[in-house]
Amino acid sequence: MNSFLLVVFDGLRPDMVRPDTTPNLMRFARLGTRFARARSVFPSETRVCSASIATGCLPRRHGLVANRIAHPRDPRRSVDTGQMEVLMALEQETGAPLLEAPTLARLLADAGREFCLFSSGTTGQTFVLNPEAAALGQITLSAHGAAFCSPAGARLLARLDPPPAQAAARAVWLADAWRTHMLPAPPAASILWLCEPDFSGHYDGLGSPGQLAALRDADAAFGRLIDAWQAGPQRDTLTIAVASDHGHATITGLHAVAPDMAGSPAAGATLMAGSSCGFAVPDPTPERIAAIAAWLTRQDWAGSVFAADGIDMPDGVLPRSVLLADHARAAPVLFTLRASDALAPSGLTGDGLAGVTLYDGGLKPGGGTHGGLLAAEMHTVLMLAGAPIRAGVASEVPAGLCDIAPTVLALLGLPGGAAMDGRVLEEAMHPPPASLPSPAPETWEAAAPGYRQRVGRTRLGRHLYIDSGQRD
Ligand SMILES: [Zn+2]
Repeated sequence: MNSFLLVVFDGLRPDMVRPDTTPNLMRFARLGTRFARARSVFPSETRVCSASIATGCLPRRHGLVANRIAHPRDPRRSVDTGQMEVLMALEQETGAPLLEAPTLARLLADAGREFCLFSSGTTGQTFVLNPEAAALGQITLSAHGAAFCSPAGARLLARLDPPPAQAAARAVWLADAWRTHMLPAPPAASILWLCEPDFSGHYDGLGSPGQLAALRDADAAFGRLIDAWQAGPQRDTLTIAVASDHGHATITGLHAVAPDMAGSPAAGATLMAGSSCGFAVPDPTPERIAAIAAWLTRQDWAGSVFAADGIDMPDGVLPRSVLLADHARAAPVLFTLRASDALAPSGLTGDGLAGVTLYDGGLKPGGGTHGGLLAAEMHTVLMLAGAPIRAGVASEVPAGLCDIAPTVLALLGLPGGAAMDGRVLEEAMHPPPASLPSPAPETWEAAAPGYRQRVGRTRLGRHLYIDSGQRD
C-alpha cells in the first residue's frame, strides 16, 4: 500500500539548505523535486501554518488566523494557541471546532486509512495538526509527554526512552522514534514535525553556532531516516515530503506598541503583539477601524497595515483580504512592525542574512522571529521524493503549504483534495502534466503622505500565493 510522510523542519529558511549545513536535505533534493518558489501563509506563524498544512486551506477558511487570537466571545481577552489545554477550552466554550475545514487526519479516517503525528512543537501546535486524534483513535505523539499525546500516542510513548528535555535533542529523538517504530509498517500518512531549527533560531539567532548545531543534528537524524527508507521495501511505496512552515527574520530592534496606544485611536483595543500584530476592537465600527489603521500609517515603527474589508479604506491601508486571512476570528486591523530586506550579521555567511524586523515581545535583538511578510519569513522549503516523483527537478512553479494535503490525498488515491484551497503538485509527478497555467504576478500598493506599502502575490489558475510585503 502506498504511504506518505511529511517531515517539517520548523522555521527552516531555504537559503539555509546548503551542502555544509544540511547535507542530507541536499541529498534528498537530488532524489526528487525541489520547489524553488514555495511559500508560507499569512501570518507566517507556526499554528496558522500548521492549520494550513492540516486542512489544505488558507487561514480565511480554516479560521486559525494567528498564533494569538481574540477570544470569539470576548475581544478583550486574547487566546494563546500554543497550549493544548487552552485550545480545548476554547472549543468547549464556543461549542465549535477549532478548525473550520476537515483535516487530512479526518479524511484518512473517513477513508478507513491510518494517520499518525509525531511532534516536538508546542502542545498547541501539535493539537492543531489533528484536533480529533483521540476521537479518531489515531496516534499523536508529543515530545512534551503523555499528557499531550492521544491515548494511542501515549501507549506508544510508554514503550520509548523518555524524550530529552532540550529542544534540539527532542527533535532528534522524535525523528529516530518515527524511523524505528513507524517506518517498518507506516500508516497511510504521517507527519513528523521537528521543532528545529526554529527554537534555536529564536533564541540563539540565525546561523549562530547553536542553531547550526541544532540544524546539523536534525539533518543527521533525517539522514538516518532516508538511509533506512532507501535500503528497505518502503523505498517503492513511501513518498516523502520535506517542508518548512515559514522562514525567519532577525530582530534588530524592539518596539513596545502598547505605550503608544494611550491617547490614540487604538486606546481600549486589545493588542496581539509579535512581529505580526493585530488590534481587536470591542466596538468595531467602520469609523473606529479606519481611524486605527490610519493612525498606524503615521507611526514610524509600523510596517504593512491592513483593515477589514468593507470599510472606507484610509490612504495607505490595504484590505485584509489581500492577505487571504479575512475571517471572523481575524483582528479587524492587522499590521507588521517595520521590517526590511536589509542584511543582518550571521555566522552562516560573511555578507549576512537578508531580513530584519522590529519586534514586540519576549525575544531579544539578534534572535530570529517570524509572522510578518518579508521574503525571509514567507519563503519556505518544499521538496518531494519517492517512486511517483520526478527526480532531480527544481520546479519554478509556485507552491505552498496548502498544496501538501491535496497532494497527499492524490498520491493515496483518496478524495477530499478538490475541496481544499491548495492544489495537487502534479508537476512533480510522473508523467508531468502537458501544461500548467502560467504564474501571474500581481502587486497591491497603497500610499499616504510619508507612507507606502506593497504586497506581491502570484496567481496560478484559481490559486494564490503571497510572495512578500513591505513598507518602503
Ligand atoms: Zn514554525
